[in-house]
Amino acid sequence: MNPAMRTIFPLLLTMMLSVSAFAGEGVSMKCGVAAAGEKTDKGCGYEEMVTFGGGMRFEQITGYCRACKKFVHVRWTRDGIPESLRPPGGPKEKPKPLGEVWDASTGATHVVHACPECEGPFVEIKGSKDLTHCPKCNEPHFGIDPTKPRMAID
Ligand SMILES: [Zn+2]
Ligand SMILES: [Zn+2]
Repeated sequence: MNPAMRTIFPLLLTMMLSVSAFAGEGVSMKCGVAAAGEKTDKGCGYEEMVTFGGGMRFEQITGYCRACKKFVHVRWTRDGIPESLRPPGGPKEKPKPLGEVWDASTGATHVVHACPECEGPFVEIKGSKDLTHCPKCNEPHFGIDPTKPRMAID
């Protein structure tokens, strides 16, 4: 690769990512990363690739199911996607949430959905900024691992 291309290539990649309005992202999250992204000696070391948002053909809600002890996703086909492009087995419409809960300590309202595996309740996590506590040890050292790549989802 010539030097000019080496400069242009990362620029193009960044532009392509920002042009794709539907793109969700997958991030490697780890227990033991401080809020600013630097490593800390606290935390249990649990790590997981978590995806937020949907792609061109589908939309997605992300959460953590306490009963299943893992991150779970509810996916459905995006509006206006023709039958022929529907992801195999994907539902047609946004599933109805189970309900909402109000957190009296923060004033926040959380939407509760049914886990696709156990049908128990889980709270929607909108993005990595709203995922600050480790689902395993409940300590506030859960963040994006700066040493791992991010993925765009289409
Ligand atoms: Zn932890
Ligand atoms: Zn579950």
